[in-house]
Amino acid sequence: MVLLKMSHLNKIYGGTKAVDDFNLEIEKGEFICFIGTSGSGKTTTMRMINRMLHQTSGTIEINGEDISKMDPVKLRRKIGYVIQNIGLMPHMTIRDNITLVPRLLKWSEEKRNEKAKEMIKLVELPEDYLDRYPAELSGGQQQRIGVIRALAADQDIILMDEPFGALDPITRESLQDLVKDLQERLGKTFIFVTHDMDEALTLATKIVIMSHGKQVQVDTPDNILRHPANEFVESLIGQERLIQARPSITTVGQVATKAVSARESQTLKEALGEMHTKRVDTLLVTDDAGVLRGFVGIEQINQFYGTGKKIGDIMDKNIFYVKEDSVIRDTVERILKRGFKNVPVIDHDHHLVGIVTRATLVDMVYDALWGESDKPEKSDDTEVGDQA
Ligand code: ADP
Ligand code: MG
Repeated sequence: MVLLKMSHLNKIYGGTKAVDDFNLEIEKGEFICFIGTSGSGKTTTMRMINRMLHQTSGTIEINGEDISKMDPVKLRRKIGYVIQNIGLMPHMTIRDNITLVPRLLKWSEEKRNEKAKEMIKLVELPEDYLDRYPAELSGGQQQRIGVIRALAADQDIILMDEPFGALDPITRESLQDLVKDLQERLGKTFIFVTHDMDEALTLATKIVIMSHGKQVQVDTPDNILRHPANEFVESLIGQERLIQARPSITTVGQVATKAVSARESQTLKEALGEMHTKRVDTLLVTDDAGVLRGFVGIEQINQFYGTGKKIGDIMDKNIFYVKEDSVIRDTVERILKRGFKNVPVIDHDHHLVGIVTRATLVDMVYDALWGESDKPEKSDDTEVGDQA
């Protein structure tokens, strides 16, 4: 069931559209992250949801009820708002800090005290901390109190506008974990503004990407990673993550193709015949059991042709290979950096199972960056064993 529904929301300041036809339906228990460049309309949208701002046009409904027609106190009971980086009130006890909003909502003292005890338990701090002042707590403890303060008024929907924007990455991560955990345990619905894609990917069930007042893409983190709507979204995600966002293809073995090979015991004539048929200038060499031993190029074969030597005698044993269960993202850079056109893939017992070609890897990187379309022409580069 839809908890919050925004339809054709617009907010115009002077001539500029701060928010331009914003539409979103949010279900109970969702964690929505807004992300976008500065000035893209995130804060303006949040403030309209809480009716701190009134939209130029469009509607916002909670459980089907138009918020512009709701009693403001009733609305505040349903929606909480946490503004950018606000700390605790230094002159108030922890109890009073936690129950700031319940007091504004005119809860009885008894109910407020109950709530304060319940909330401080959630962050595993002792109850007697409720009588302390913020300065008596560590920075980390104060941050955690700040999070439970946001949840203390039992509102269904919590709006947070870059709450962790100014924090160091480690503090940030621990508070993200706390927020996500409490959100799930308490069954709250969150709308959370961030400028940090990692934060959005960690927290969100759905991400709303904003640019110039417009929604560029609204989707699950997974779909955003796999199918970014345009270059702007790609730039927000970053190339690194795009390459990693292909869980369906993870190991080198999954992209390996058949290798052309010879055995150590074969004659140079046989090897040359194989090269000719398969139109390659290099062969991988295995023993009779299929274990990778080396490679041989057409130049070596020419050099030793007619000497009666076998492939095993003249092959180059200095061969670079990858294991079939290596993770692609760990190997792709190494392979591309070395400049190999292709690299043999082996199993745990060093049996040759195939090759990965540079062309395959390059295609994968292109797919990840640009999707299936707009792929540059494939280079016809499927021959084997061409080391270095
Ligand atoms: P964000 O939170 O995504 O950084 P905002 O919602 O704060 O963006 O702002 C969206 C746009 O609206 C910006 O271009 C901003 O300059 C403009 N804006 C915001 N508040 C006002 C205001 N009170 N008067 C005029 N323009 C405003
Ligand atoms: Mg803002």
